[in-house]
Amino acid sequence: MTDNSLNPNPRSPRVHVERGDDAYANTIAALGAFDLAPVKGKTVLLKPNVGRMAAFGTGVNTNPRVVAAAIDAFSAAGAKVSIGESPITGVKTMEAFELSGIAAVANERDCPLIDLDARAPIETPIPNGRVIESIKLCADVPEFDFVVSIPVMKIHMHTGVTLAVKNMKGCLWRRSKVELHMLPQLEDTPDKSLDIAIGDMATVLRPRFSIIDGSVCMEGLGPGAGTPKELNVVVAGSDAFAADAVACRLMGRDAAEIPHLRIGAANGCGVIDLDQIQVTPNNWRDHASAFSAAPKNLSFEFPNVEVLDRNSCSACQSTLLLFLKRYGDTLPEYVSAEERLRVAIGKGHENLPEGTLCVGQCTVRQKDGGIFVPGCPPVGSQIHKVLQQHAQKKSADDE
Ligand code: SF4
Repeated sequence: MTDNSLNPNPRSPRVHVERGDDAYANTIAALGAFDLAPVKGKTVLLKPNVGRMAAFGTGVNTNPRVVAAAIDAFSAAGAKVSIGESPITGVKTMEAFELSGIAAVANERDCPLIDLDARAPIETPIPNGRVIESIKLCADVPEFDFVVSIPVMKIHMHTGVTLAVKNMKGCLWRRSKVELHMLPQLEDTPDKSLDIAIGDMATVLRPRFSIIDGSVCMEGLGPGAGTPKELNVVVAGSDAFAADAVACRLMGRDAAEIPHLRIGAANGCGVIDLDQIQVTPNNWRDHASAFSAAPKNLSFEFPNVEVLDRNSCSACQSTLLLFLKRYGDTLPEYVSAEERLRVAIGKGHENLPEGTLCVGQCTVRQKDGGIFVPGCPPVGSQIHKVLQQHAQKKSADDE
């Protein structure tokens, strides 16, 4: 998967940006800017972002009309096309395909949907990995001639953005994805191990072509709990790093400041220097619109909540944020106006203050002194239920 026959000049890759109201037409036009002849007679795996249970319009998952256009364009070029995904922990692949609208467009076209988690994975070594020595690759992925990454353009609370390069993490088998969030910090660098791990992963796993869905995107607390943002663009190119660099600029970001892109480019996996990328059309920068960043601390939005976060993954953060959004008004029932609700998520906490709300399986060791919510990821309604039970017990003890 490391060579790139769709791209005749990987040192100076091409990226095309198409803008318009119709995501299907944008995608067809963007793909029309490339010679797709190399896929004739080949198998193509489309890898959209369908990692969460969410309908179109929320900015969470890839627009089904972008996926429909990709099926049509690659099929017309003579490829045998399938769609695959391995979603975040707790999400069933086929249910996510249904809710996203991607199952409907695939079924209309007799395009197979693959649950990439169904088969046993292939342990794939990373010869020069700095923080990971191997990945558990979903077995279907290397059986395809071409893999096409089709992410939705999103801000990511942990990695800055999530685009074509990071979307390939959805080819890692089941819970093995979570392991990348749990790596210890290296002492000789300020870079987070998660970003280095994505750079390691890219040395053995990157797409042959990328189509970045910028129709309804996500800003703020992405990847799961941010705000939808319409940009009405599609970005396409055969170097995923180059496509991501262009998408970053459209989002008001510089790819050199996105650690996993900087690290992956330094590993020789792609080009992020816009001066080396041939971007068409010339006026592409006119479509840029700055995306708001994820807040650094969830407590910022919820002043009566203190979040203690150690090495959590985005699933836990999203759950917590959605819980606070939904049940935030009821928190005064559980904590007095002078108190703050202290919530711990992630792994490696020690000596948490008594009464801390410990959310998620990673905090299980701390449960004795606190209020524990099981689950990986936990669900918001369960957090609410556990808090209610705790309040009832406390009031019964007080009587
Ligand atoms: S409990 Fe939360 S932080 Fe821990 S692995 Fe599960 S989702 Fe990630």
